[in-house]
Amino acid sequence: MKTTKEEIWVFGDYRNYFRNRVTLQLLAKAADLASQKGNPVCAVIFGSDVKEYVDEYIAHGAEKVYVIDHASLKGYLVETYVVLMETLVRRYKPEMVLVGATCFGREFAPRVAKRLKTGLTADCVNLSMNEDALLVQTAPAFGGNLLAKIITPHHKPQMATVRPGVFKELPHDYGATGEIVNVPIPKRLPKSGVRLISSEHEPHRTSKIEDAKIVVCGGRGMGSKQKFKKLFALAELLGGEVGATRPVVYSNWADHDALIGQAGRQIKPQLLLSFGISGAIQHTAALSDAKFIIAVNKNPEAPMMKMADVAIVADANQVCSAMIREIKERIRA
Ligand SMILES: Cc1cc2nc3c(=O)[nH]c(=O)nc-3n(C[C@H](O)[C@H](O)[C@H](O)COP(=O)(O)OP(=O)(O)OC[C@H]3O[C@@H](n4cnc5c(N)ncnc54)[C@H](O)[C@@H]3O)c2cc1C
Repeated sequence: MKTTKEEIWVFGDYRNYFRNRVTLQLLAKAADLASQKGNPVCAVIFGSDVKEYVDEYIAHGAEKVYVIDHASLKGYLVETYVVLMETLVRRYKPEMVLVGATCFGREFAPRVAKRLKTGLTADCVNLSMNEDALLVQTAPAFGGNLLAKIITPHHKPQMATVRPGVFKELPHDYGATGEIVNVPIPKRLPKSGVRLISSEHEPHRTSKIEDAKIVVCGGRGMGSKQKFKKLFALAELLGGEVGATRPVVYSNWADHDALIGQAGRQIKPQLLLSFGISGAIQHTAALSDAKFIIAVNKNPEAPMMKMADVAIVADANQVCSAMIREIKERIRA
């Protein structure tokens, strides 16, 4: 079976929804890509009792949703999901498949691409369409030192994973309608080597760093775990989130969740406060959407200082403590 028009598919990664919004972000980008040639924007979803997500995807731009809804799909098993996706792609032949670069997407998408013998660009930070209507997939390469633009001209579908927070979702449209294609679960599915015993939500903060308006980010220049803790106090006073560089995460001063950069999160705050960070490309690649940056560093020549709107040449610790003092005084006044 072949679809009449070349569809753009977005894989429905609804785990940790409402917090995880990457599928909605990809639907918005798919709509943008589709505007050139009028490709239908579709979502694909597997699971059990997934109607609320189907409605959500339609409200966020999906014109059609392919659904495999079955009790046996309650828990995610990569072997099963990969086979389901392969089956649907072979049957409906979409032009492109976009997947969120979440832990789940990073495990799932390459396996699907391998089975379909097509290419996959992982961890894209931008997508566009060229004059030949090929998907131009922009991703950091060579340790993040350059951004590569990759196309997949000879194999279909064109596949990419995209980091959460890179694109903006469309507003929720309560009046939107879409076609729902209910696909029966295939009779034969691979026997999984993994048995899901139970699953539990990891407790998390109320806000996500990708969506934070204020981010207080610290690097090795903070000096120690003890001193780094001041950044949490400052972020709390400002109603922001704490981000960190890789050495900080590796030294266990902050969780991996806080890592900002090529190997971590992409952020787009209104205000970024950067303390004791040199500004390596692997870190700054994730800051391009920050609106206003204040950097504190002892070295005025550090790339982070060059990138900042306001560069303060000083000891990061002292400036952080002074800011905390000043804010507390203003709150008291
Ligand atoms: C494949 C790959 C992926 C990577 N991914 C990431 C990533 O996702 N995120 C990331 O952050 N890094 C990543 N890195 C590491 C990256 O290259 C840098 O090593 C890292 O960002 C540097 O972190 P930093 O700025 O905290 O430390 P440093 O580079 O050591 O800089 C410390 C800065 O603090 C300043 N300083 C020192 N003392 C003080 C003080 N008292 N007051 C004020 N300033 C002071 C120094 O002048 C210096 O500029 C990656 C590297 C590779 C190879």
